[in-house]
Amino acid sequence: MKSLVSALLLTFLAFNSYGLELPKQAAVAGGIVHIPLQGNSSTPPKVIYNKHRVMVVPSHNTPYQAKVDWVALVGIPLSAKTGQQTLTVDGKKQHFKIQGKQYKEQRLTIKNKRKVNPNPLDMKRINREKKEIITAIASWTDTDTPATQLLKPAKGPYSSPFGLRRFFNNQPRKPHSGLDIAAPKGSPIIAPAPGKVVATGDYFFNGRTVILDHGQGLTTMYCHMDQIHVKLGQLIPQGEQLGTIGSTGRVTGPHLHWGVSLNNARIDPMLMMVEQ
Ligand SMILES: [Zn+2]
Repeated sequence: MKSLVSALLLTFLAFNSYGLELPKQAAVAGGIVHIPLQGNSSTPPKVIYNKHRVMVVPSHNTPYQAKVDWVALVGIPLSAKTGQQTLTVDGKKQHFKIQGKQYKEQRLTIKNKRKVNPNPLDMKRINREKKEIITAIASWTDTDTPATQLLKPAKGPYSSPFGLRRFFNNQPRKPHSGLDIAAPKGSPIIAPAPGKVVATGDYFFNGRTVILDHGQGLTTMYCHMDQIHVKLGQLIPQGEQLGTIGSTGRVTGPHLHWGVSLNNARIDPMLMMVEQ
């Protein structure tokens, strides 16, 4: 049964038509770095960064094709320090550099004070949910044709960019790890690329949430949803509706919080998005 499911998933991912376009490069925390790799043309090198497998795609039809056969697409976490970074390529160390980037500040007022200063029972729930969410975000599925570009998952203006340094009721909290799209409650949210549902839930901060695995360490997350139309384990074609926009969890109004991760690093969704 498991092999049948994997075979079906591979078939789904093989239909992805964006495989050859690389995401935009930004060598900063929250960005993506292209690392051209020498190697055998039939077997991609195995790349590890911060203990996580890294997506490696063929260089065919990319600016790197004359020189190398493969390109690693490394997601850089928002917590990464400016300067030298290290990854391993088939076990051998290789270095690259990232520049500093100062993201803007954002100050928000949340009326429900428990969503800013949770009580001990809430904290138990939050820690349990955090484990479930991180496990789903860090999913790895082998595929020869991973998605490298994403459609915009909902119609509407961007209400809050990625990376903002956040203060809730004047208290510093984690930076904004996704991109917010504002739209009225009930507006559709679609899958930006083919994928598999690896988590659904109603979480303390994120509200009703769906997480999709697109293969090779690319996962996307949809938060504060009103309704969820998909089930855990379901294979979703590109463009299929996942559910609707809402205002569940820690919010100031209805919007979609869209998170995109590569090798378990939250990256700016704008780098992978093609606006349709
Ligand atoms: Zn957000």
